[in-house]
Amino acid sequence: MPSQGRRSAPLPKGWDRIRRRILKRDGHHCQWLLDAGGICNEPASEVDHKNPAYMGYDDHSDDNLWALCSWHHARKTGREASAAAHALPPRARPAEAHPGLLP
Ligand SMILES: [Zn+2]
Repeated sequence: MPSQGRRSAPLPKGWDRIRRRILKRDGHHCQWLLDAGGICNEPASEVDHKNPAYMGYDDHSDDNLWALCSWHHARKTGREASAAAHALPPRARPAEAHPGLLP
């Protein structure tokens, strides 16, 4: 599993086990909430912190974790990185069409 880029906080002990449990809980489907309603539901391979550590959260509980597809995970991480650079919380932006959802 390649780990790209820097992480603002170390992953907790036993992360691999937590990650697998969350993926299983979420049925290996992306839980990203679509603006149009419903969830992305693409195959998920990533587990993400809803409230990221850079905002002062250090919450590795199940409630703060969800499965995301790599596309949404990359998108969310990129947004958080730029938000952290500006010391502002992530802003809501208009949703871009998910490539997997195009007709
Ligand atoms: Zn997704």
